[in-house]
Amino acid sequence: MSTTDADAHAGGATAERIRIREVGPRDGFQNEPELLSTDDKLTLVGALMRSGVERIELTSFVRPDVIPQLADGADLLDRLEPVPGVSRSVLIPNERGLDGALLRRDRFDEVSVFLSASETHNRKNVNRSIDESLAGLRRVLERAGDAGLRRVAVIATSFGCPYEGEVPVARVAEIATALRDAGAEEIGFGDTTGMANPRQVARFFPVLADALGPDVELTAHFHNTRGQGLANVLAALDAGCRSFESSFGELGGCPVPAGATGNIATEDLVSMLHEMGYATGIDLPAVISASRRAQEIIGRPLGSHTLVAGPVQWSPHA
Ligand code: ZN
Repeated sequence: MSTTDADAHAGGATAERIRIREVGPRDGFQNEPELLSTDDKLTLVGALMRSGVERIELTSFVRPDVIPQLADGADLLDRLEPVPGVSRSVLIPNERGLDGALLRRDRFDEVSVFLSASETHNRKNVNRSIDESLAGLRRVLERAGDAGLRRVAVIATSFGCPYEGEVPVARVAEIATALRDAGAEEIGFGDTTGMANPRQVARFFPVLADALGPDVELTAHFHNTRGQGLANVLAALDAGCRSFESSFGELGGCPVPAGATGNIATEDLVSMLHEMGYATGIDLPAVISASRRAQEIIGRPLGSHTLVAGPVQWSPHA
């Protein structure tokens, strides 16, 4: 089905467009216990890129001994056929990662950098203070800009930290502003361990939009750890957020606590948005079939609801 068909289902040409970045190939595969072969990844990523998704995070340039699930990142980029209109991003932890990625500059379009809004989480995750992370990321963002790459910065634990509890929104705004000033054109806010609630999200986005101004795109990255992922999406939509990240099949369990679910499922997000009359450009059955294929490859049921139920067969917008 073409993009036009998907949009027609979601209310036609007048439907407001929501941007979605599929992060399953990075955030999903990284946090699942299985190691997928590069061939299987190419099958799944290719299917997702042909589903109408406009943004996809493909891999991360991290040390292979730290994240063996993504050790084939360079090979994946080399072998992946580009699809017109699909923006490919890679996650970059530091300058050394950027060095590796830039050897394949023509194989992707965006970089994502990351840090945490809480000192404790940042130190446990990357063994640096937030100030040290910001100093390193400034250099990464500058060099990525020089290379003509679009720059995205993601702030983990934006809605709460498993170690420190509440993360003040003013602190998130301060870090986001520093990232904007360092060249980030888009800032993602990660609910890394699923602590956000809809009321908090409703208060959060207007504060961040006000702090960052109109030239920065704000993206919500919710996890479904406690089943509140789509409720948080609705709150973010109502608060003006128009960009979201999600993972096909709900891939991407969270290592802490073990067995907890991670990202919201792309097919659940797309189904809800289309039923609400928004356009995404994504062909929902195509995403469902990619998730079904992932389920077969991995050999156990994945967490997505729409994968089980299928698309809604009647719609007021059809
Ligand atoms: Zn995530």
